[in-house]
Amino acid sequence: MNRSNSVDVEHVEPALQGESFDVIIIGGGAAGCVVAGRISRETSASVLLLEAGASDWDPLIHLPAGYAKILQHDLHVWQHETVPQLQLDGATRRFRSGKVIGGGSSINAMCYVRGQPRDYAKWQDAVGDTGNWSFEALLPHFHAQENNDTFHNRYHGASGPLKVSLPRGINELNQGALKAFQEAGLPYNPDYNGASQLGVSPVQATFSDGKRCSSAVAFLKPAEDAGRVEIRVHSTVQRVVVENGRAIGVEYVRDHKKHFVRAGDVILSAAAVHTPKLLMLSGIGPAEHLREHGIAVVHDSPEVGQNLQDHTVVPVQAYCTRDLGYQKTSQGFGAIGAGLRYVLTNDGPASGNGVETVSYFDPDDLTAEPTIQCYHVPIVSNDGLSPTGTQAGITFELVVLQPESRGSIRLRNADPESTPLIDPNFMADQRDMASAVKSVRFMREVMKKPSLVDLLASELQPGSGVQTDEQIEAWIRTVVTTMWHPVGTCRMGKDASAVVDAELCVNGVRGLRVIDASIMPNIVSGNTNAPTMALASLGAELFIHSKQRAGNFNWQPPSSGTGASSS
Ligand SMILES: Cc1cc2nc3c(=O)[nH]c(=O)nc-3n(C[C@H](O)[C@H](O)[C@H](O)COP(=O)(O)OP(=O)(O)OC[C@H]3O[C@@H](n4cnc5c(N)ncnc54)[C@H](O)[C@@H]3O)c2cc1C
Repeated sequence: MNRSNSVDVEHVEPALQGESFDVIIIGGGAAGCVVAGRISRETSASVLLLEAGASDWDPLIHLPAGYAKILQHDLHVWQHETVPQLQLDGATRRFRSGKVIGGGSSINAMCYVRGQPRDYAKWQDAVGDTGNWSFEALLPHFHAQENNDTFHNRYHGASGPLKVSLPRGINELNQGALKAFQEAGLPYNPDYNGASQLGVSPVQATFSDGKRCSSAVAFLKPAEDAGRVEIRVHSTVQRVVVENGRAIGVEYVRDHKKHFVRAGDVILSAAAVHTPKLLMLSGIGPAEHLREHGIAVVHDSPEVGQNLQDHTVVPVQAYCTRDLGYQKTSQGFGAIGAGLRYVLTNDGPASGNGVETVSYFDPDDLTAEPTIQCYHVPIVSNDGLSPTGTQAGITFELVVLQPESRGSIRLRNADPESTPLIDPNFMADQRDMASAVKSVRFMREVMKKPSLVDLLASELQPGSGVQTDEQIEAWIRTVVTTMWHPVGTCRMGKDASAVVDAELCVNGVRGLRVIDASIMPNIVSGNTNAPTMALASLGAELFIHSKQRAGNFNWQPPSSGTGASSS
Protein backbone atom coordinates (compact mmCIF):
# COMPACT_ATOMS: atom_id res chain seq x y z
CA MET A 1 0.00 0.00 0.00
CA ASN A 2 1.24 3.48 -0.81
CA ARG A 3 2.39 5.63 2.06
CA SER A 4 0.19 8.70 2.47
CA ASN A 5 1.63 12.21 2.15
CA SER A 6 -0.56 13.85 4.77
CA VAL A 7 0.68 14.52 8.29
CA ASP A 8 1.20 11.42 10.36
CA VAL A 9 -0.03 13.13 13.58
CA GLU A 10 -0.01 10.00 15.67
CA HIS A 11 3.76 9.78 15.42
CA VAL A 12 4.47 13.45 15.88
CA GLU A 13 5.36 14.97 19.25
CA PRO A 14 2.05 16.53 20.45
CA ALA A 15 3.75 19.58 21.99
CA LEU A 16 5.17 20.53 18.60
CA GLN A 17 2.17 19.95 16.38
CA GLY A 18 1.09 23.60 16.53
CA GLU A 19 4.43 25.16 15.58
CA SER A 20 4.49 27.37 12.54
CA PHE A 21 7.03 29.52 10.69
CA ASP A 22 6.76 31.74 7.64
CA VAL A 23 9.53 29.75 6.04
CA ILE A 24 11.46 26.59 6.82
CA ILE A 25 14.89 26.08 5.25
CA ILE A 26 16.06 22.48 5.09
CA GLY A 27 19.84 22.28 5.33
CA GLY A 28 22.20 24.85 6.83
CA GLY A 29 24.94 24.42 4.22
CA ALA A 30 26.65 26.79 1.81
CA ALA A 31 23.33 27.80 0.22
CA GLY A 32 21.05 27.44 3.26
CA CYS A 33 23.13 29.90 5.32
CA VAL A 34 22.97 32.50 2.56
CA VAL A 35 19.21 32.08 2.20
CA ALA A 36 18.57 32.23 5.97
CA GLY A 37 20.85 35.25 6.27
CA ARG A 38 19.14 37.23 3.52
CA ILE A 39 15.57 36.49 4.57
CA SER A 40 16.36 37.30 8.21
CA ARG A 41 18.13 40.53 7.34
CA GLU A 42 15.71 41.82 4.74
CA THR A 43 12.28 40.78 6.00
CA SER A 44 10.31 40.30 9.21
CA ALA A 45 9.43 36.72 8.32
CA SER A 46 9.93 34.00 10.92
CA VAL A 47 12.64 31.59 9.75
CA LEU A 48 13.38 28.06 10.92
CA LEU A 49 16.62 26.45 9.72
CA LEU A 50 16.84 22.67 10.17
CA GLU A 51 20.28 21.07 9.92
CA ALA A 52 20.97 17.36 10.27
CA GLY A 53 24.55 17.90 11.49
CA ALA A 54 25.99 19.67 14.51
CA SER A 55 26.86 23.31 15.07
CA ASP A 56 30.30 24.37 13.88
CA TRP A 57 31.85 24.27 17.37
CA ASP A 58 34.85 22.13 16.34
CA PRO A 59 38.08 24.22 16.18
CA LEU A 60 39.29 21.99 13.31
CA ILE A 61 36.56 23.55 11.16
CA HIS A 62 37.89 27.05 11.70
CA LEU A 63 41.59 26.17 11.37
CA PRO A 64 42.22 26.39 7.59
CA ALA A 65 44.49 23.33 7.47
CA GLY A 66 42.04 21.38 9.67
CA TYR A 67 39.98 20.07 6.76
CA ALA A 68 42.51 17.36 5.95
CA LYS A 69 42.04 15.87 9.43
CA ILE A 70 38.26 16.32 9.22
CA LEU A 71 38.11 14.32 6.01
CA GLN A 72 40.74 11.80 7.02
CA HIS A 73 38.66 10.92 10.10
CA ASP A 74 35.24 11.40 8.46
CA LEU A 75 34.17 14.10 10.92
CA HIS A 76 31.11 16.26 10.14
CA VAL A 77 30.36 14.42 6.90
CA TRP A 78 27.72 12.19 5.37
CA GLN A 79 29.72 9.02 4.86
CA HIS A 80 28.41 8.08 1.46
CA GLU A 81 29.88 5.78 -1.19
CA THR A 82 28.99 5.61 -4.85
CA VAL A 83 27.40 2.54 -6.37
CA PRO A 84 29.91 0.38 -8.31
CA GLN A 85 31.16 2.40 -11.28
CA LEU A 86 30.96 0.40 -14.48
CA GLN A 87 33.74 2.32 -16.21
CA LEU A 88 36.01 1.86 -13.19
CA ASP A 89 35.76 -1.92 -13.32
CA GLY A 90 32.97 -1.93 -10.77
CA ALA A 91 34.94 -0.05 -8.09
CA THR A 92 33.15 2.32 -5.70
CA ARG A 93 34.41 5.69 -4.51
CA ARG A 94 34.00 7.73 -1.33
CA PHE A 95 31.37 10.42 -1.87
CA ARG A 96 31.41 12.54 1.29
CA SER A 97 29.57 15.82 1.80
CA GLY A 98 29.32 18.27 4.69
CA LYS A 99 26.99 17.44 7.59
CA VAL A 100 27.36 20.41 9.88
CA ILE A 101 26.27 24.04 10.02
CA GLY A 102 27.93 25.57 6.97
CA GLY A 103 27.69 22.24 5.12
CA GLY A 104 30.46 21.84 2.57
CA SER A 105 31.69 25.38 3.22
CA SER A 106 32.70 24.31 6.75
CA ILE A 107 34.75 21.28 5.70
CA ASN A 108 35.93 21.98 2.16
CA ALA A 109 39.31 23.06 0.84
CA MET A 110 38.13 26.71 0.66
CA CYS A 111 39.27 27.35 -2.93
CA TYR A 112 37.26 30.31 -4.22
CA VAL A 113 36.44 29.92 -7.93
CA ARG A 114 33.55 31.27 -9.98
CA GLY A 115 33.99 29.47 -13.30
CA GLN A 116 33.62 30.96 -16.76
CA PRO A 117 30.90 33.27 -18.14
CA ARG A 118 30.10 30.60 -20.78
CA ASP A 119 28.95 28.27 -17.94
CA TYR A 120 26.32 30.79 -16.91
CA ALA A 121 25.41 31.48 -20.54
CA LYS A 122 24.17 27.88 -20.56
CA TRP A 123 22.15 28.53 -17.41
CA GLN A 124 20.65 31.50 -19.23
CA ASP A 125 19.88 29.29 -22.24
CA ALA A 126 18.21 26.82 -19.90
CA VAL A 127 15.74 29.42 -18.61
CA GLY A 128 15.42 31.49 -21.82
CA ASP A 129 13.26 34.55 -21.37
CA THR A 130 11.66 33.17 -18.19
CA GLY A 131 14.54 34.44 -16.02
CA ASN A 132 18.00 35.95 -15.79
CA TRP A 133 20.79 33.61 -14.75
CA SER A 134 23.61 34.97 -16.92
CA PHE A 135 27.07 35.69 -15.50
CA GLU A 136 26.19 39.39 -15.51
CA ALA A 137 23.09 38.63 -13.42
CA LEU A 138 25.15 36.72 -10.86
CA LEU A 139 28.14 39.09 -10.76
CA PRO A 140 26.46 41.58 -8.36
CA HIS A 141 25.84 38.69 -5.95
CA PHE A 142 29.46 37.50 -6.09
CA HIS A 143 30.51 41.12 -5.63
CA ALA A 144 28.22 41.93 -2.71
CA GLN A 145 29.14 38.76 -0.83
CA GLU A 146 32.89 39.19 -1.16
CA ASN A 147 35.49 40.84 1.02
CA ASN A 148 38.63 40.27 -1.05
CA ASP A 149 41.98 41.10 0.58
CA THR A 150 43.63 42.09 -2.71
CA PHE A 151 41.24 42.93 -5.54
CA HIS A 152 38.59 45.65 -5.60
CA ASN A 153 37.24 46.25 -9.07
CA ARG A 154 34.39 45.34 -11.41
CA TYR A 155 34.80 41.65 -10.52
CA HIS A 156 35.62 41.78 -6.83
CA GLY A 157 33.96 43.22 -3.77
CA ALA A 158 35.92 44.40 -0.75
CA SER A 159 33.20 45.04 1.81
CA GLY A 160 31.02 41.91 1.89
CA PRO A 161 31.00 39.40 4.76
CA LEU A 162 32.75 36.56 2.86
CA LYS A 163 36.49 36.91 3.37
CA VAL A 164 38.59 35.83 0.39
CA SER A 165 42.38 35.88 0.53
CA LEU A 166 45.40 35.21 -1.60
CA PRO A 167 48.06 33.00 0.02
CA ARG A 168 50.35 34.87 2.41
CA GLY A 169 53.32 33.31 0.69
CA ILE A 170 54.04 30.72 -1.96
CA ASN A 171 56.37 27.88 -1.00
CA GLU A 172 59.36 27.09 -3.17
CA LEU A 173 57.80 24.01 -4.79
CA ASN A 174 54.73 25.95 -5.89
CA GLN A 175 56.90 28.81 -7.09
CA GLY A 176 58.57 26.24 -9.34
CA ALA A 177 55.16 25.09 -10.60
CA LEU A 178 54.07 28.69 -11.26
CA LYS A 179 57.11 29.28 -13.45
CA ALA A 180 57.07 25.87 -15.17
CA PHE A 181 53.50 26.38 -16.45
CA GLN A 182 54.63 29.71 -17.90
CA GLU A 183 57.63 28.02 -19.50
CA ALA A 184 55.14 25.58 -21.05
CA GLY A 185 53.25 28.49 -22.64
CA LEU A 186 50.56 29.56 -20.16
CA PRO A 187 50.27 33.21 -19.16
CA TYR A 188 50.64 34.27 -15.54
CA ASN A 189 47.15 35.36 -14.46
CA PRO A 190 46.95 37.19 -11.13
CA ASP A 191 43.16 36.73 -10.96
CA TYR A 192 41.35 33.71 -12.43
CA ASN A 193 38.08 35.18 -11.11
CA GLY A 194 38.62 38.32 -13.17
CA ALA A 195 38.39 39.01 -16.88
CA SER A 196 39.80 35.59 -17.85
CA GLN A 197 40.34 32.26 -16.15
CA LEU A 198 43.19 31.23 -18.43
CA GLY A 199 46.69 30.88 -17.02
CA VAL A 200 48.62 29.98 -13.91
CA SER A 201 47.71 31.79 -10.71
CA PRO A 202 47.83 32.02 -6.96
CA VAL A 203 44.76 30.41 -5.37
CA GLN A 204 42.02 32.60 -3.87
CA ALA A 205 40.47 31.02 -0.80
CA THR A 206 37.74 31.68 1.75
CA PHE A 207 39.87 32.29 4.79
CA SER A 208 41.41 35.28 6.41
CA ASP A 209 43.72 35.96 9.36
CA GLY A 210 44.25 32.24 9.80
CA LYS A 211 40.55 31.36 10.04
CA ARG A 212 38.11 29.70 7.63
CA CYS A 213 35.28 31.94 6.50
CA SER A 214 32.43 29.51 5.88
CA SER A 215 29.00 30.44 4.63
CA ALA A 216 27.84 30.02 8.23
CA VAL A 217 30.42 32.46 9.57
CA ALA A 218 29.80 34.98 6.80
CA PHE A 219 26.02 34.87 6.39
CA LEU A 220 24.27 32.93 9.16
CA LYS A 221 26.12 34.09 12.27
CA PRO A 222 25.01 37.74 11.95
CA ALA A 223 21.36 36.63 11.65
CA GLU A 224 21.79 34.26 14.59
CA ASP A 225 23.42 36.94 16.73
CA ALA A 226 20.56 39.31 15.90
CA GLY A 227 18.10 36.64 17.09
CA ARG A 228 16.37 36.63 13.73
CA VAL A 229 16.57 32.97 12.83
CA GLU A 230 15.68 29.82 14.76
CA ILE A 231 18.42 27.22 14.13
CA ARG A 232 17.89 23.58 15.05
CA VAL A 233 20.88 21.29 14.65
CA HIS A 234 20.81 17.48 14.84
CA SER A 235 17.44 17.80 13.12
CA THR A 236 17.11 15.51 10.11
CA VAL A 237 14.20 16.23 7.82
CA GLN A 238 12.47 13.12 6.55
CA ARG A 239 10.04 14.66 4.12
CA VAL A 240 8.12 17.72 3.07
CA VAL A 241 4.41 17.39 3.73
CA VAL A 242 2.28 18.37 0.75
CA GLU A 243 -1.49 18.85 0.91
CA ASN A 244 -3.64 19.73 -2.07
CA GLY A 245 -0.59 20.50 -4.19
CA ARG A 246 0.99 22.85 -1.63
CA ALA A 247 3.88 22.28 0.79
CA ILE A 248 2.50 22.89 4.28
CA GLY A 249 5.40 21.88 6.51
CA VAL A 250 8.07 19.32 7.20
CA GLU A 251 8.60 16.25 9.32
CA TYR A 252 11.95 15.94 10.99
CA VAL A 253 13.62 13.75 13.57
CA ARG A 254 15.55 15.06 16.53
CA ASP A 255 16.57 13.05 19.59
CA HIS A 256 14.85 10.01 18.05
CA LYS A 257 11.50 11.86 18.11
CA LYS A 258 9.52 12.85 15.09
CA HIS A 259 8.36 16.47 14.85
CA PHE A 260 6.06 18.27 12.46
CA VAL A 261 6.38 22.00 11.84
CA ARG A 262 4.01 23.98 9.69
CA ALA A 263 5.39 26.49 7.17
CA GLY A 264 4.11 29.15 4.83
CA ASP A 265 6.88 28.13 2.44
CA VAL A 266 9.55 25.43 2.42
CA ILE A 267 13.02 25.81 0.90
CA LEU A 268 15.14 22.75 0.22
CA SER A 269 18.87 23.49 0.58
CA ALA A 270 20.02 19.97 1.40
CA ALA A 271 22.40 19.73 -1.61
CA ALA A 272 22.68 17.59 -4.71
CA VAL A 273 22.36 14.22 -2.97
CA HIS A 274 19.83 14.96 -0.23
CA THR A 275 17.54 17.46 -1.94
CA PRO A 276 16.41 15.00 -4.64
CA LYS A 277 16.22 12.26 -2.00
CA LEU A 278 13.89 14.41 0.12
CA LEU A 279 11.78 15.37 -2.89
CA MET A 280 11.34 11.71 -3.76
CA LEU A 281 10.51 10.77 -0.16
CA SER A 282 7.89 13.52 -0.34
CA GLY A 283 6.28 12.01 -3.43
CA ILE A 284 7.88 14.35 -5.97
CA GLY A 285 9.96 12.46 -8.52
CA PRO A 286 9.81 9.81 -11.24
CA ALA A 287 6.36 8.22 -10.65
CA GLU A 288 7.39 4.68 -11.48
CA HIS A 289 10.44 4.81 -9.21
CA LEU A 290 8.33 6.18 -6.33
CA ARG A 291 5.66 3.49 -6.75
CA GLU A 292 8.36 0.86 -6.83
CA HIS A 293 9.18 1.94 -3.25
CA GLY A 294 5.55 2.34 -2.12
CA ILE A 295 5.63 6.15 -2.02
CA ALA A 296 2.41 7.95 -3.00
CA VAL A 297 3.01 10.15 -6.03
CA VAL A 298 2.32 13.82 -5.37
CA HIS A 299 3.84 15.01 -8.62
CA ASP A 300 5.44 12.99 -11.39
CA SER A 301 8.73 14.78 -12.01
CA PRO A 302 10.90 12.37 -14.00
CA GLU A 303 14.13 14.37 -13.77
CA VAL A 304 14.36 14.56 -9.96
CA GLY A 305 17.72 12.94 -9.18
CA GLN A 306 18.80 12.83 -12.83
CA ASN A 307 21.46 14.96 -14.55
CA LEU A 308 24.02 14.41 -11.75
CA GLN A 309 27.30 16.07 -12.72
CA ASP A 310 30.55 16.08 -10.80
CA HIS A 311 34.17 16.96 -11.38
CA THR A 312 36.62 14.09 -11.35
CA VAL A 313 40.21 14.40 -10.25
CA VAL A 314 43.18 12.58 -11.79
CA PRO A 315 46.36 12.85 -9.66
CA VAL A 316 49.74 13.05 -11.38
CA GLN A 317 52.47 12.79 -8.75
CA ALA A 318 56.22 13.12 -8.43
CA TYR A 319 58.70 12.98 -5.59
CA CYS A 320 61.00 15.93 -4.94
CA THR A 321 64.77 15.90 -5.03
CA ARG A 322 64.87 17.59 -1.63
CA ASP A 323 62.61 18.50 1.27
CA LEU A 324 60.09 20.88 -0.32
CA GLY A 325 56.36 21.48 0.10
CA TYR A 326 54.25 20.41 3.08
CA GLN A 327 54.77 16.64 3.28
CA LYS A 328 56.54 16.92 6.62
CA THR A 329 54.59 19.80 8.15
CA SER A 330 51.29 17.97 7.66
CA GLN A 331 52.09 14.94 9.80
CA GLY A 332 53.85 13.80 12.99
CA PHE A 333 56.26 16.23 14.65
CA GLY A 334 56.05 18.52 11.62
CA ALA A 335 52.32 18.96 12.16
CA ILE A 336 52.86 19.60 15.88
CA GLY A 337 55.41 22.25 14.96
CA ALA A 338 53.03 23.82 12.43
CA GLY A 339 50.27 23.77 15.07
CA LEU A 340 52.49 25.48 17.65
CA ARG A 341 53.56 28.08 15.13
CA TYR A 342 49.90 28.74 14.34
CA VAL A 343 49.00 29.11 18.02
CA LEU A 344 51.93 31.44 18.73
CA THR A 345 51.95 33.51 15.52
CA ASN A 346 48.65 32.79 13.71
CA ASP A 347 50.86 32.03 10.73
CA GLY A 348 52.63 29.18 8.92
CA PRO A 349 51.29 26.18 6.96
CA ALA A 350 48.36 25.55 9.33
CA SER A 351 46.97 29.04 8.66
CA GLY A 352 46.37 28.26 4.98
CA ASN A 353 44.69 25.53 2.95
CA GLY A 354 47.99 24.18 1.58
CA VAL A 355 46.97 24.80 -2.03
CA GLU A 356 48.76 27.91 -3.15
CA THR A 357 48.79 27.77 -6.95
CA VAL A 358 46.54 26.53 -9.74
CA SER A 359 46.43 26.55 -13.51
CA TYR A 360 43.60 26.61 -16.06
CA PHE A 361 44.21 25.58 -19.66
CA ASP A 362 43.06 23.73 -22.74
CA PRO A 363 45.78 21.21 -23.64
CA ASP A 364 44.76 21.43 -27.33
CA ASP A 365 45.17 25.21 -27.51
CA LEU A 366 46.89 27.15 -24.74
CA THR A 367 45.20 30.37 -25.81
CA ALA A 368 41.64 28.97 -25.72
CA GLU A 369 39.11 28.99 -22.86
CA PRO A 370 40.26 26.46 -20.28
CA THR A 371 38.88 22.93 -20.26
CA ILE A 372 41.18 21.68 -17.49
CA GLN A 373 41.86 22.87 -13.95
CA CYS A 374 45.05 21.75 -12.22
CA TYR A 375 45.75 22.34 -8.52
CA HIS A 376 49.41 22.04 -7.58
CA VAL A 377 49.19 20.36 -4.17
CA PRO A 378 52.62 20.24 -2.52
CA ILE A 379 52.22 16.82 -0.92
CA VAL A 380 52.02 13.22 -2.12
CA SER A 381 48.68 11.82 -1.07
CA ASN A 382 46.86 8.63 -1.97
CA ASP A 383 43.48 10.00 -0.92
CA GLY A 384 44.06 13.55 -2.12
CA LEU A 385 43.80 14.85 1.44
CA SER A 386 46.38 13.54 3.85
CA PRO A 387 50.07 12.89 3.19
CA THR A 388 51.15 9.40 2.18
CA GLY A 389 54.66 8.58 3.41
CA THR A 390 57.28 11.09 4.43
CA GLN A 391 59.11 11.71 1.18
CA ALA A 392 58.41 15.21 -0.13
CA GLY A 393 56.51 15.44 -3.39
CA ILE A 394 53.75 17.11 -5.36
CA THR A 395 50.34 16.09 -6.67
CA PHE A 396 48.97 17.79 -9.76
CA GLU A 397 45.19 17.37 -9.49
CA LEU A 398 43.80 17.37 -13.04
CA VAL A 399 40.11 18.15 -13.37
CA VAL A 400 37.97 18.03 -16.52
CA LEU A 401 36.06 21.27 -16.11
CA GLN A 402 33.02 20.70 -18.33
CA PRO A 403 32.35 16.95 -18.09
CA GLU A 404 29.83 15.32 -20.40
CA SER A 405 29.16 12.28 -18.17
CA ARG A 406 25.80 12.30 -16.39
CA GLY A 407 24.78 10.24 -13.37
CA SER A 408 21.86 9.97 -10.99
CA ILE A 409 20.57 9.85 -7.43
CA ARG A 410 17.87 7.28 -6.78
CA LEU A 411 16.22 5.92 -3.68
CA ARG A 412 17.50 2.65 -2.30
CA ASN A 413 14.16 2.24 -0.50
CA ALA A 414 11.53 4.37 1.23
CA ASP A 415 13.43 4.54 4.53
CA PRO A 416 14.58 8.14 5.15
CA GLU A 417 17.58 6.77 7.07
CA SER A 418 18.92 4.94 4.01
CA THR A 419 21.69 6.33 1.87
CA PRO A 420 20.40 6.87 -1.66
CA LEU A 421 21.96 5.14 -4.65
CA ILE A 422 24.62 7.59 -5.82
CA ASP A 423 25.83 6.98 -9.35
CA PRO A 424 28.09 9.76 -10.68
CA ASN A 425 28.85 7.59 -13.70
CA PHE A 426 32.45 8.79 -13.72
CA MET A 427 34.09 8.83 -17.16
CA ALA A 428 31.03 7.29 -18.81
CA ASP A 429 31.45 9.69 -21.70
CA GLN A 430 34.60 8.96 -23.71
CA ARG A 431 35.09 12.70 -24.32
CA ASP A 432 35.84 13.15 -20.59
CA MET A 433 38.41 10.36 -20.73
CA ALA A 434 40.02 11.80 -23.87
CA SER A 435 40.28 15.19 -22.19
CA ALA A 436 41.79 13.68 -19.04
CA VAL A 437 44.39 11.76 -21.08
CA LYS A 438 45.46 14.95 -22.88
CA SER A 439 45.77 16.76 -19.57
CA VAL A 440 48.10 14.04 -18.25
CA ARG A 441 50.28 14.37 -21.34
CA PHE A 442 50.47 18.15 -20.98
CA MET A 443 51.29 17.80 -17.28
CA ARG A 444 54.23 15.60 -18.12
CA GLU A 445 55.52 18.34 -20.45
CA VAL A 446 55.26 20.90 -17.66
CA MET A 447 57.18 18.67 -15.25
CA LYS A 448 60.11 18.68 -17.68
CA LYS A 449 60.36 22.48 -17.79
CA PRO A 450 63.48 24.11 -16.26
CA SER A 451 61.77 25.48 -13.15
CA LEU A 452 60.45 22.07 -12.09
CA VAL A 453 62.83 19.57 -13.59
CA ASP A 454 65.50 20.06 -10.93
CA LEU A 455 62.98 20.02 -8.08
CA LEU A 456 61.32 16.77 -9.13
CA ALA A 457 62.79 13.27 -8.93
CA SER A 458 60.98 10.24 -10.27
CA GLU A 459 57.38 10.38 -11.49
CA LEU A 460 55.31 8.40 -9.03
CA GLN A 461 52.01 8.33 -10.92
CA PRO A 462 51.22 7.34 -13.68
CA GLY A 463 54.90 6.24 -13.75
CA SER A 464 57.30 5.57 -16.60
CA GLY A 465 55.62 2.29 -17.59
CA VAL A 466 52.43 4.15 -18.57
CA GLN A 467 52.95 5.76 -21.99
CA THR A 468 50.31 4.97 -24.63
CA ASP A 469 46.82 6.48 -24.56
CA GLU A 470 45.44 3.05 -23.72
CA GLN A 471 47.83 2.71 -20.78
CA ILE A 472 47.03 6.19 -19.50
CA GLU A 473 43.28 5.45 -19.77
CA ALA A 474 43.69 2.20 -17.89
CA TRP A 475 45.63 3.98 -15.14
CA ILE A 476 43.01 6.76 -14.94
CA ARG A 477 40.30 4.16 -14.35
CA THR A 478 42.18 2.96 -11.27
CA VAL A 479 42.73 6.37 -9.68
CA VAL A 480 40.00 8.75 -10.83
CA THR A 481 37.69 9.93 -8.08
CA THR A 482 35.39 12.77 -7.09
CA MET A 483 36.50 16.37 -6.66
CA TRP A 484 33.43 16.66 -4.35
CA HIS A 485 31.34 18.88 -6.62
CA PRO A 486 27.99 17.12 -7.22
CA VAL A 487 25.39 19.38 -8.86
CA GLY A 488 22.46 19.28 -11.25
CA THR A 489 20.05 16.76 -9.73
CA CYS A 490 17.16 19.26 -9.55
CA ARG A 491 17.82 20.96 -12.84
CA MET A 492 16.53 24.50 -13.40
CA GLY A 493 14.90 25.16 -16.77
CA LYS A 494 12.08 26.72 -18.71
CA ASP A 495 10.69 23.38 -19.86
CA ALA A 496 8.01 21.50 -17.95
CA SER A 497 10.28 18.55 -17.29
CA ALA A 498 12.80 20.70 -15.44
CA VAL A 499 12.61 20.15 -11.67
CA VAL A 500 12.55 23.87 -10.83
CA ASP A 501 11.67 26.94 -12.85
CA ALA A 502 13.70 30.14 -13.21
CA GLU A 503 12.41 31.35 -9.80
CA LEU A 504 13.62 28.02 -8.31
CA CYS A 505 10.01 26.97 -7.53
CA VAL A 506 9.47 23.21 -7.72
CA ASN A 507 7.31 22.51 -10.75
CA GLY A 508 3.98 20.99 -9.81
CA VAL A 509 3.99 21.91 -6.10
CA ARG A 510 3.21 25.33 -4.63
CA GLY A 511 5.11 26.81 -1.67
CA LEU A 512 8.23 24.73 -2.33
CA ARG A 513 11.59 25.87 -3.70
CA VAL A 514 15.03 24.39 -4.16
CA ILE A 515 17.99 26.68 -3.54
CA ASP A 516 21.30 24.81 -3.60
CA ALA A 517 23.88 23.30 -5.96
CA SER A 518 21.34 20.81 -7.28
CA ILE A 519 19.60 23.45 -9.42
CA MET A 520 22.60 24.04 -11.72
CA PRO A 521 21.61 22.91 -15.22
CA ASN A 522 25.33 22.38 -15.99
CA ILE A 523 28.33 22.31 -13.71
CA VAL A 524 30.52 25.42 -13.63
CA SER A 525 34.19 25.41 -14.69
CA GLY A 526 35.65 25.36 -11.21
CA ASN A 527 34.93 24.52 -7.60
CA THR A 528 31.28 24.87 -6.73
CA ASN A 529 31.11 26.64 -3.36
CA ALA A 530 31.27 30.26 -4.58
CA PRO A 531 28.75 29.69 -7.41
CA THR A 532 26.40 27.96 -4.96
CA MET A 533 26.53 30.87 -2.52
CA ALA A 534 25.96 33.35 -5.36
CA LEU A 535 23.02 31.40 -6.80
CA ALA A 536 21.60 31.17 -3.28
CA SER A 537 21.73 34.93 -2.97
CA LEU A 538 19.88 35.40 -6.27
CA GLY A 539 17.42 32.63 -5.36
CA ALA A 540 16.70 34.23 -1.98
CA GLU A 541 16.21 37.58 -3.66
CA LEU A 542 13.70 36.16 -6.14
CA PHE A 543 11.84 34.50 -3.27
CA ILE A 544 11.75 37.64 -1.09
CA HIS A 545 10.57 39.79 -3.99
CA SER A 546 7.80 37.34 -4.86
CA LYS A 547 6.52 37.43 -1.26
CA GLN A 548 6.75 41.21 -1.11
CA ARG A 549 4.90 41.55 -4.40
CA ALA A 550 2.14 39.41 -2.93
CA GLY A 551 1.85 42.03 -0.16
CA ASN A 552 2.35 39.65 2.78
CA PHE A 553 2.94 41.82 5.87
CA ASN A 554 5.54 39.49 7.43
CA TRP A 555 7.73 39.75 4.37
CA GLN A 556 8.20 43.51 4.47
CA PRO A 557 11.57 44.87 5.64
CA PRO A 558 12.04 44.46 9.40
CA SER A 559 11.27 47.35 11.70
CA SER A 560 13.02 47.63 15.05
CA GLY A 561 11.70 45.26 17.67
CA THR A 562 10.44 42.58 15.33
CA GLY A 563 12.17 39.24 15.35
CA ALA A 564 11.70 35.73 14.15
CA SER A 565 9.44 33.61 16.31
CA SER A 566 11.28 30.80 17.97
CA SER A 567 10.68 27.92 20.26
C1 LIG B 1 35.65 17.47 0.77
C2 LIG B 1 35.10 18.62 -0.03
C3 LIG B 1 35.98 19.58 -0.54
C4 LIG B 1 35.49 20.63 -1.29
N1 LIG B 1 36.33 21.63 -1.68
C5 LIG B 1 35.83 22.74 -2.26
C6 LIG B 1 36.64 23.88 -2.50
O1 LIG B 1 37.82 23.93 -2.15
N2 LIG B 1 36.07 24.96 -3.10
C7 LIG B 1 34.77 24.95 -3.50
O2 LIG B 1 34.32 25.94 -4.10
N3 LIG B 1 33.97 23.90 -3.28
C8 LIG B 1 34.45 22.82 -2.63
N4 LIG B 1 33.62 21.78 -2.33
C9 LIG B 1 32.22 21.84 -2.80
C10 LIG B 1 31.34 22.79 -2.00
O3 LIG B 1 31.59 22.69 -0.62
C11 LIG B 1 29.88 22.47 -2.33
O4 LIG B 1 29.68 22.70 -3.70
C12 LIG B 1 28.88 23.31 -1.56
O5 LIG B 1 29.04 23.13 -0.18
C13 LIG B 1 27.46 22.93 -1.98
O6 LIG B 1 26.58 23.74 -1.27
P1 LIG B 1 25.11 23.26 -0.94
O7 LIG B 1 24.48 24.34 -0.12
O8 LIG B 1 24.42 22.85 -2.18
O9 LIG B 1 25.28 21.95 -0.05
P2 LIG B 1 26.01 21.73 1.33
O10 LIG B 1 26.96 22.82 1.61
O11 LIG B 1 26.51 20.34 1.30
O12 LIG B 1 24.83 21.86 2.40
C14 LIG B 1 23.76 20.96 2.53
C15 LIG B 1 23.38 20.89 4.00
O13 LIG B 1 22.13 20.23 4.12
C16 LIG B 1 22.17 19.36 5.23
N5 LIG B 1 21.19 18.31 5.06
C17 LIG B 1 21.20 17.33 4.12
N6 LIG B 1 20.11 16.53 4.29
C18 LIG B 1 19.41 17.04 5.33
C19 LIG B 1 18.21 16.64 5.98
N7 LIG B 1 17.52 15.57 5.58
N8 LIG B 1 17.77 17.39 7.03
C20 LIG B 1 18.47 18.47 7.45
N9 LIG B 1 19.64 18.87 6.87
C21 LIG B 1 20.09 18.16 5.82
C22 LIG B 1 23.61 18.85 5.21
O14 LIG B 1 23.98 18.29 6.44
C23 LIG B 1 24.39 20.10 4.83
O15 LIG B 1 24.79 20.85 5.95
C24 LIG B 1 34.09 20.72 -1.57
C25 LIG B 1 33.22 19.77 -1.05
C26 LIG B 1 33.69 18.73 -0.27
C27 LIG B 1 32.74 17.73 0.31
